[in-house]
Amino acid sequence: MLIRLLLLVAFLQVEGVKIYTEEELLGKINPTSHSDFSLVPSEFCSRSGIYLRSEVLDKFIVLRQLAEEEGIKLIIVSGTRSFNHQKDIWDRKWTKPKYMGWEKIEKAKDILTYSSMPGTSRHHWGTDFDLNSLENNYFDSGEGKKVYDFMERCGGEHGFKQVYTSKDGGRTGYEEEKWHWSYMPVSSVMLNQYNELVCISDIRGFDGSEVADSINVIGVFVNGIAE
Ligand SMILES: [Zn+2]
Repeated sequence: MLIRLLLLVAFLQVEGVKIYTEEELLGKINPTSHSDFSLVPSEFCSRSGIYLRSEVLDKFIVLRQLAEEEGIKLIIVSGTRSFNHQKDIWDRKWTKPKYMGWEKIEKAKDILTYSSMPGTSRHHWGTDFDLNSLENNYFDSGEGKKVYDFMERCGGEHGFKQVYTSKDGGRTGYEEEKWHWSYMPVSSVMLNQYNELVCISDIRGFDGSEVADSINVIGVFVNGIAE
């Protein structure tokens, strides 16, 4: 394992690919003090205190300007989330009274409809963000449809992609999220490195982590993205 890892690191360095740490891939960082992250200006967000990787924010600013020229407002409602932030979300759902008496595995699968286990979220990476609304039907008409159509038409050429698409094509994992966009030039590198560096035994430190292996959370969810 160690030799494989050292070979991979050597290969990536020769290729000039940035190497991410296991902590970065698992969200065990603080974006407010990490030199690769920037605070998103509050006028781009629904609330203050949202961070993205600086290169992702730079591209988003270009895209947002283009949208604005068409009278469309792109508003970030969530960006980078640390492991602890995701753990708060997970724990809040895990302890909901509606799950009283549920088997752990069924409870975890139900939460995983839309929410990630801590350590497995793309929001840890600073490459992904949620736009405008967390309801798919918002994007079916009116302002929401304009936002979605704009992102479909112009997002790709700037590196942005909807990763949680309809599951009709056989994609596994989370349900469709029309609000979640990823900056692929960075996130695809991070996903490759995640698959090399992170094992299921690294997904721990929260209630419910004991079923991560049975659910195959890395195979089915972390890798359950659009082709
Ligand atoms: Zn999201």
